[in-house]
Formats: sequence, C-alpha cells, structure tokens
Amino acid sequence: MTTETKKVQLKGMTLPELKKWFSENGEKPFRGEQVFNWMYNYLIDDFEGMLNLSKPLREKLRDTTILNTLELTNTSVSSSEGTVKLLLKTGLDHLIECVIIPEEKRVTLCVSTQVGCPLDCKFCATGLMGYKRNLTAGEIFDQYAIAQRANNREITNIVYMGMGEPLLNYDATVKSLEIFAQDTTQGITLKKITVSTAGIAPRIRDLADTGLRPKLALSLHSCFEDTRTKIMPINAKYSLKENIEAIEYYIKKTNTRITYEYTMLEGINDTDRDIKALGKLCRRMPSKVNIIKFNSLEHMHPEGFSGELRPTSRDRIEEFAERLKDEDVTVLVRDTQGDEIAAACGQLAGMVIDNNG
Ligand code: SF4
Repeated sequence: MTTETKKVQLKGMTLPELKKWFSENGEKPFRGEQVFNWMYNYLIDDFEGMLNLSKPLREKLRDTTILNTLELTNTSVSSSEGTVKLLLKTGLDHLIECVIIPEEKRVTLCVSTQVGCPLDCKFCATGLMGYKRNLTAGEIFDQYAIAQRANNREITNIVYMGMGEPLLNYDATVKSLEIFAQDTTQGITLKKITVSTAGIAPRIRDLADTGLRPKLALSLHSCFEDTRTKIMPINAKYSLKENIEAIEYYIKKTNTRITYEYTMLEGINDTDRDIKALGKLCRRMPSKVNIIKFNSLEHMHPEGFSGELRPTSRDRIEEFAERLKDEDVTVLVRDTQGDEIAAACGQLAGMVIDNNG
C-alpha cells in the first residue's frame, strides 16, 4: 500500500469536496455524488463495483485515486463473548485496531482516531505506546466499512473510543462525522455515534458549534482535580472545571446528555468521598455513568504510577454502583467484553505496540 500514497485519497472527502474534485478533474459534479454513495452507503471497495460509472471513468479513478485506506491484517475473536478485534494496516504501514462488540440488541464498533495516543492516561495501554500520527477521515470511516463487511450482523452504534484522542485529531474527526451525517441508507446516524474525550475543553465547544450533535462521553475517572491530574496528566492543561463548563455548553447546544466513563481503581477513585462527588457532579446536568472494570496493565510491565494501579474488587464495584443510584445517578456497570483478546477499554495496543515501535 505504501506506493499508493501519492494518489489522491477519495475516501475521507465529504460530499461537497467530492463534487468539487470531480468538477476540477474534468467530470460532472454529480459523479462525486455517485462515488459518495458507492463508498459510504454501499461500502464498495472496488471501482469495478461502481456500476453507474463509465468504464473509462472507473479506469481513470483506479489510476489516479485511492479507494481503500486500510488493509485488514488480522482478526481475533473472543470465544466467550464474540467480541472481534480487527488489526488494520494503514498506507504508511502503521497498525491500528478497531473492535466489534456484539450485544443482544445492538452491535457497537469502537474506532481509533490516532496511531497511538499522546495523552499518557495512566490506566491505558494505548497511552503507553506513545503517539505516531493522526488518522485521516477516510481511515476513520474505513474502520467502519471493513468491520461491517467482516461482520454478519449490522453495526448499529459507533464509539470514537479506540486508540487516540478524537478531539486532538479534531478536523478528521469532524469530517468523518459529517460523512456519517450524510449517509442516509445505512443504519448509522449521529444519534448512534459517541465521541469519547479525555477532556479537550476548547474542542468540546467547537464540536458543539458544528451543529453535528453526536453524543459526547468524558473519560472522567475522578471528580477531584488533583487525583484526575495524577491519572490523566492532560487535566493539568484542561482542568475538570473547564471541561465541565464546556460540557454544559455542549449539552445546552445539542440537547443531548453526557456520559461519564469511570474506570474503577482500587483506593484511588472508589471511596465513599468519590461517590458523593460523582453524585453531585451528575446532578448538574443530564448524564449517566459507565462504570468500567480496570484491566490490569501488568503484562506490559509499566513503570511508575501505571504499574501501581489495581482493579477495584467486583463487590466494591457493585456497592459503588448501588450507592450512586441512591444519589439519583443513572449508572451502568459495563461488562468487560473483550478482556480475553485485549480489546477492552484501555487495552487497545496489545498487538500493535511492537510493530509501530
Ligand atoms: S484513555 Fe484515550 S486519551 Fe487516554 S491515553 Fe488512552 S487512548 Fe489516549
């Protein structure tokens, strides 16, 4: 795939961009609309399959443009839960992962937005591998296209929660959302898409101003600034206070509710004081809390604070959740689907860490 990178990448262009590109390249703008439908609605991965384009146009496109941005190189399936992890190679030979999580009533795809991540959250395997580059909007979309083709059930939900911080790759993230927003024949709408952020307050406000209205999730993990900074160093730059104000702005503009992701760390964020603080925060605006069991990073031999982190016991997680309900908080204790194949939250990096090194 590396030799193809000089060609123009069609996937990732929005509808207006495609119309413009076709018009600037001697074709009628409506050809852009046709290609948009083939790429994004019918998930066609070969110009030959674009049946309403003439043969000479298909040949021209094949010679000058790239349709596929990622190559599927490995698939692992968790035998107990059916979670599927796809290992994908980019045109620059970097490896990324996305995960299909089947449940009774829905199938969720977790997509990556960066190769690695610059943020170094202490509970996260991806943070340990460092940052290589941003993904393009085409590469974000192609994770969906490949996953849907590989999966026999329809993908109903997408979470931007894989490798990387979506709001540090803001332009490509928004462009990919615009593509999903225009995609009318598939089941995915922006109501079924959640962008999860570690808390990049100015970009949360920008996202609110786009009018796109995907759901928003904040990786919270503590309501206390000092503890949160210890777990997530980005909190020193964009404080929780600043992020909560940005989220209030987002909720007001989009009329959605915020999801707080809360990974349970023994002795760090699972005390009675944390319950009270979380209850108070949740009552400020429409919200729910996803409680996540911490997946140990011991297999990666991390040094420092990451190496000290331990999961909260199952009993305490249940008690914590019950006590939050008493505080009028909507709580979901998430099953740790994908543990077995290192596809659970904070574990995406397993297979890629050596290859991208
Ligand atoms: S939790 Fe998300 S933002 Fe934090 S290091 Fe991991 S991938 Fe990056």
